[in-house]
Amino acid sequence: MSDSDMVQAWTKVLTLCKLKQGEVVTILTAPDTNQQTLVTASIAADALGAVVNRLELPPVNGERSLSRDKLAFVGTTPLTGNRAALAALKASDLVLDLMTLLFSPEQLEILQGGTRILLAVEPPDVLARIVPTEADRTRVLAAASKLKAAKEMHITSGAGTDLRCALGEYPLLEEYGFADAPGRWDHWPSGFIATWPNEGGAHRRVVLDRGDILLPMKTYLAAPIEMEIEGGYVTSIAGALDAELLRDYIESFADPEAFAVSHIGWGLQPKARWSTLGLYNREATIGMDARAFEGNFLFSLGPNTEAGGTRDTPCHIDIPMRGCTVALDGEAVVARGQTRDTNIARAEAAD
Ligand code: FE
Repeated sequence: MSDSDMVQAWTKVLTLCKLKQGEVVTILTAPDTNQQTLVTASIAADALGAVVNRLELPPVNGERSLSRDKLAFVGTTPLTGNRAALAALKASDLVLDLMTLLFSPEQLEILQGGTRILLAVEPPDVLARIVPTEADRTRVLAAASKLKAAKEMHITSGAGTDLRCALGEYPLLEEYGFADAPGRWDHWPSGFIATWPNEGGAHRRVVLDRGDILLPMKTYLAAPIEMEIEGGYVTSIAGALDAELLRDYIESFADPEAFAVSHIGWGLQPKARWSTLGLYNREATIGMDARAFEGNFLFSLGPNTEAGGTRDTPCHIDIPMRGCTVALDGEAVVARGQTRDTNIARAEAAD
């Protein structure tokens, strides 16, 4: 990836974030932040007339997490108890998070002050391939209006999934790839819509099929995994080797909340692809192609603190599933893995 292409990509994204001359941008970094992403972000923000800071914080949770993936162990962040860093971020108009500050009360406090935050931690070539557009926002917000009105999400699949989730208790997670309003958090690259089932309101069965993806494991399943779900929790995980590995990983947290159903939603990003995960070194990506590819049903286990709930388990697993039908109050928004506005989305992506 050339520096000039990355500067152009950042310029598009910062413009979509409505960055104005004289606004304060703080780039939040960790020792392993990609240097090209950092340098090109700084150049693009500076060229747009922003006041640019950099704040580097030390990593946390290294001794506790089984994985180096920063989405694998959530909760405590480098901002926990760090008043000075918190003050700097709250005083910024836009925070470019190249570190991965997620699921924390400190992040909520920063957003409540009106600061907008954009997370960007995928490698430069993934960022440059999935630069967001206004069309992404339009598509995600159209899906959001349907999801907001729904009382139930019913997910079925040829593999045997039959999951019913009562809705309405929790807010939506609308990710379209840029933070264009005060207090908005987003993630470049992304493109999906999600919410959380009502407390205790997820029931029946999820059957993961061959080719479905486990994150943070970053593996494609070789064989199905059957999960029984009662009262919002996975009560059994059955299957071959992949099922045993998944169960052992979740059990390592010794936390019953790790088995809770977390966010549920569907992918809306035509530039993201199901097949890319096998092309990258497992530690070079966090798997945003997998989370966002168009028409996947994104099932997940773990916390709901991001939605304002109290379940703060550090274990978080995202599971993009193919070939599912997602119905809201009986109306399909995804049919056998295809979003209903697929053709529109493809035309937009070609622009
Ligand atoms: Fe997730």
